[in-house]
Amino acid sequence: MSKKITFLGTGTSQGVPMIGCHCRVCTSDDERDHRLRTSLMIEAAGKRVVIDAGPDFRQQMLHHRVEDVDAILLTHEHRDHTGGLDEVRSINYFRRHEMPIYCTARTAEAVRRDYAYAFGDNRYPGAPMLSLHVIDSLDSFSIGELEFVPVYGSHSFLPVVGYRFGDCAYLTDFKSIEAEEVEKLRGVEVLIINGLRHTPHPSHFSIAEATEVARQVSPKQTYFTHCCHEIGLYTEVEPTLPEGMHLAYDGLTIRL
Ligand SMILES: [Zn+2]
Ligand SMILES: [Zn+2]
Ligand SMILES: [Zn+2]
Repeated sequence: MSKKITFLGTGTSQGVPMIGCHCRVCTSDDERDHRLRTSLMIEAAGKRVVIDAGPDFRQQMLHHRVEDVDAILLTHEHRDHTGGLDEVRSINYFRRHEMPIYCTARTAEAVRRDYAYAFGDNRYPGAPMLSLHVIDSLDSFSIGELEFVPVYGSHSFLPVVGYRFGDCAYLTDFKSIEAEEVEKLRGVEVLIINGLRHTPHPSHFSIAEATEVARQVSPKQTYFTHCCHEIGLYTEVEPTLPEGMHLAYDGLTIRL
């Protein structure tokens, strides 16, 4: 099955540029240094799936002229990954369907809490129509013909889930991953993994830590995402990365 993957956003929680920052990256004219909040779009077999819907979801849909999404998969409950869920109202309205949301029970609970007006007996008229699908007990699940395998990790003390889909896998906001979860990634050709910056961070892989996981998986190509402004300028960093490893940037597409 051929797939098209689009990086809708590749930035850390605050995005790049950061409000009020005058560093070289935040003031760069190169579009590849501008990073919306991390999100990935997968198009295959007539379906369109988005992983995470952060505060830039609306802008990402408009920029890529996306009018409909078949499902949204969430990695965890942080707002830079869930803050745009209200924006699915336009899709609810024009496309006349609820938005299926796939996530862990923990994240589902957070969505119900954060968007309390969208659930329950006192559901507010016009609130987003979200149907939550809990994945905790599933080894895999499918959106049309596209199969997703949850891959679990830790984001400091918070559980986080990434997804393998065929020969590609997407992990974001990981700080650690157990060996048995790495096994689920065997054979992927493209690994997308968070690499916040070059120096260590308490809750995110650095580029060196993400590189170490990539070496265990040994995909053909690795793309680092969820980068902060300390990552450096794209044109300066990209040539320094090991062979087959790249900095992702907003708008980058991969065809598989
Ligand atoms: Zn994040
Ligand atoms: Zn900056
Ligand atoms: Zn996070």
